[in-house]
Order: sequence, then structure tokens, then C-alpha cells
Amino acid sequence: MIFSPEKYKIKDERMVPFIDKEEIEDFLDITINPTKEEVIAIIDKSLNKQRLTLRETATLINANSPELIDLIKDGARRLKEKIYGNRIVLFAPLYIGNKCKNNCLYCGFRSSNKDADRRTLNDAEIVQEIEALEDNGQKRLILVYGEHDSYDPDYIAHTVRLSYGVKKGNGEIRRVNINAAPLDIEGFRTVKRAGIGTYQIFQETYHSPTYAKYHLGGPKKDYDWRLTSLDRAQEAGIDDVGIGALFGLYDWKFEVMALVRHANHFEACYNVGPHTISFPRIKSSSGLDIDEKYFVKDEEFVRIIAILRLAVPYTGLILTAREPAHIRDEVMRFGVSQIDGGTKLEIGAYAETKNEEQNLNREQFVINDNRSLSEIIEELLDKEYLPSFCTACYRLGRTGEHFMEFSVPGFIKRFCTPNAILTLSEYIMDYANEEVKLKGWNLIEKEISKMNDANLEKSIREKVEKIKQGERDLYY
Ligand code: SAM
Ligand code: SF4
Repeated sequence: MIFSPEKYKIKDERMVPFIDKEEIEDFLDITINPTKEEVIAIIDKSLNKQRLTLRETATLINANSPELIDLIKDGARRLKEKIYGNRIVLFAPLYIGNKCKNNCLYCGFRSSNKDADRRTLNDAEIVQEIEALEDNGQKRLILVYGEHDSYDPDYIAHTVRLSYGVKKGNGEIRRVNINAAPLDIEGFRTVKRAGIGTYQIFQETYHSPTYAKYHLGGPKKDYDWRLTSLDRAQEAGIDDVGIGALFGLYDWKFEVMALVRHANHFEACYNVGPHTISFPRIKSSSGLDIDEKYFVKDEEFVRIIAILRLAVPYTGLILTAREPAHIRDEVMRFGVSQIDGGTKLEIGAYAETKNEEQNLNREQFVINDNRSLSEIIEELLDKEYLPSFCTACYRLGRTGEHFMEFSVPGFIKRFCTPNAILTLSEYIMDYANEEVKLKGWNLIEKEISKMNDANLEKSIREKVEKIKQGERDLYY
């Protein structure tokens, strides 16, 4: 297909498709059998917080021996410690509606799935869902929608405003992210005005022939419209975007290269990379019928995460409850910085008290981590991870080109860790059981005494005390 700027109403040459299949394949061909020295030099570059080139990424992908794979995993672990420390940001997805006019063969919501129970939450139901999420302690949501005329930009903006407006007890949602269909520039502007955090769109597969094979109907058939979608978001002023690939549709090596290419495209054009990268693996869904040839094994999944961590040191990596607890626990060490907790995918399920089996006709796919938010927080604390509900940067306008979390020396120490401590303190005061309270205050004490900065330590202790006295929403 020949790309036509007129068709996409493109006035900016940045918004042309930038994935070159041959270029990616060539890099993967010319970097086979890398030496140990080459791999070590690339890891060192990344540990110096520099993004990797496509060629360097391909070299890491082609490092197949157990010894080299261990070096890469170790490098990713060290990088994660160096850049992100022990914080893990928590969020929850909220499915608003599953009407969909696309026919993506892997998804339970696809238009050809006649078994799907189609449902869209009405406003009262959205409020109930959010109250239930707030009662669990959530502060950050991602709203998810099928692609349908009923979910137009005005509707999406309406649901975002509605979500911010729900306050129950000390509960409130402070950041609403979106995972929905690509929009035109005006549509993105409408959604931005509602005050969204990140707009996420996954390309699913960057390999265009495979894309054509799995996207059989609806607007999503158009590979280029989707590929350039987040450029339109940038044009509309949304500088906080999330990219992703659905692993299992095509060769993981190609997809990792393309994700890095996509990140480099944003850096080159907008001076800021994507805020997050997601890498879901295909899970069972209602009537799923997919060739398993490219399904990603657990060992490969760990490699994918470690390579992405090294290739794009500054980009948040998101791992969802599609993966079982033991995989989540393992890969967190290699670079994941955000996870969902207490996730329910069935539409309307947060407000329902009965604990039914997952009903695949009402969900997009199976989830494999059914732990509650409280259980996840307790396990994070047991492993000395610092759970964070921080939303400070986005609310203070510290996003995009104007601000890079990591370009400011000492930023994590001065802002991220203190904010994680303050949001965890709120969680402990408002929602934690006795066990989590004890473990939470212990970790907080440990973190504060590690600060090595008497003024900062004093200031954090004062704020924690205020939270204990009933103040909320304190941040740096
Ligand atoms: N309808 C919007 C779209 O397609 O962009 C919203 C996204 S969809 C509700 C969220 C993501 O779930 C998709 O982009 C896809 O990557 C992922 N997904 C779909 N089916 C899946 C499956 N069977 N297993 C795992 N992830 C799946
Ligand atoms: Fe619809 Fe998105 Fe599912 Fe495709 S992945 S069928 S667009 S909900």
C-alpha cells in the first residue's frame, strides 16, 4: 500500500510511517554471533544511561548463548536499580465498554465474536466501579475501550472527567490514562482537554504482512493510520504517550527492534521518548484461534524485557496481570517499573462483590494474576519494593519535552522516592490491614533513613506526620 499524506490529512512530514521492515531485518542479519566484548561494551553504554541504536539492540537480540544472556539480564538488573531504584508504580485498568467494529483475531471483543456479551457501563455504573477501586486504594487508572462510534472523543473525554470527579472517603483518582483507538488530531485535542495522563496505543505487530493477516475488518485494518497515531497525539499536545506490541503474533526479535525504532522516532521528532512501553503476550480469549508459531516462551520473555530495559533506559516498562504472579515476580527485577494490581477485566466487575470465575465472553482475554491490590502490596513490601501511587509529575506539568524525569540530577531521590513514601503512607492510613501496616511503616522507615540528606529526611518525616494526622495529597 502506498502511504498517502492527503488521506491522513497530514501536514507534517514527521507523521509518515517510519518502520522499515528491510532495515530491521538487515540489522538482525548483520549482527549474528556477537562476541562477549561487543555485548559488554553495549551494556556499559546503556549503564551510562544512553539509549541504544538499532544496530546495538540487534546485537543484544542476537546474543543467544546462556553466558551472554546472563550478562544482559545482569546489566538490565543493575540499570533498573540505578535508574528506578526499588519503586514500583501501581495502577488498575477499568474497561468501559467492549463494543467493537474491528476484527482483530486475537481479541475476545472482535466484531466476528458472536458469543461476546456486549456492554458499556453507564455513568452510574462507572461511578460505582470507581468508588470500588477507590475503596481498594487505587489512585491511577487506565480506561480501556473497544473501537466503536459510541466511544468517540467526546465520550472518552466525558468518562475521564467523570472519573476524576468521583471522591469516596479519602479516595480519589489522580491520574487517568487511556487505552483506546487512534484518533485524528482534533479528537486527541478533545481528550487532552479532559486532563488525561498517558494515551496508550499498541501497534500489536509492526510487521505489516502479519498485521494484515490478523486485522481483518474495521478501521484498525489500516496499519499506517495506527502507526502514526501517536504522532497525531503529539501534534495535539499529548506529549505523554505509551507504545506496545502484542507478543506472539510475529517474531519477537522483529517486534523488539521495531519498538526501539518507534521510541527513537519520538526522540528524534519530539525530543522525548514514549512514556511507557507495554509488551503483552497473547492470552486465551473467547474463540481464540491463532497460529502458535510465534508464541513467546518464558525464557524469551525475560530476554525481551532485559533487552528493552537496556535499549531505552528512560522509558517506563509496564507488565500487566495477563502474566501469572511467578512471572511477574521474576521479571520485575529486570526492568519493569509499573504493574497493575487487583485487576478485573470483566466489565462492571469491580463493584460486584461476588467472586465468580472469569467469564471469557465478557472479557477481552484471560488474566493470570488474580491477587488483590492488598496482596500485591504485601508481596512487594516483603521483597523490599516500594509501592508507589505517585502522580506528582503529571499534575505539576513535569511531562514531555519540557521535563525529563531522569535528566535532572538527583531527581529520583528528591521527588520519586519521597512521593512513593507519601502515597504509601496514605495507603497505609486509609486502606491497609494490620499486616501491611506493619510491613509498610517498616519499609518507609528504612527508606527515609537511607536518604543521606538531613533536610530532606526532616521534610519527609513532617509530611508523613501530617498524613498520619489526616492531611492528604502531599507531594514534591
Ligand atoms: N480497542 C483498542 C485498541 O485495540 O487499541 C483498545 C485496546 S485493547 C482493549 C487493549 C490491548 O489488549 C490491545 O491493544 C492488545 O494488545 C491487547 N490484547 C487484545 N487481545 C489480547 C489477548 N488475547 N491477549 C493479550 N492481550 C490482548
Ligand atoms: Fe476491538 Fe481493540 Fe479488541 Fe481489536 S483489540 S477487537 S480493536 S477491542
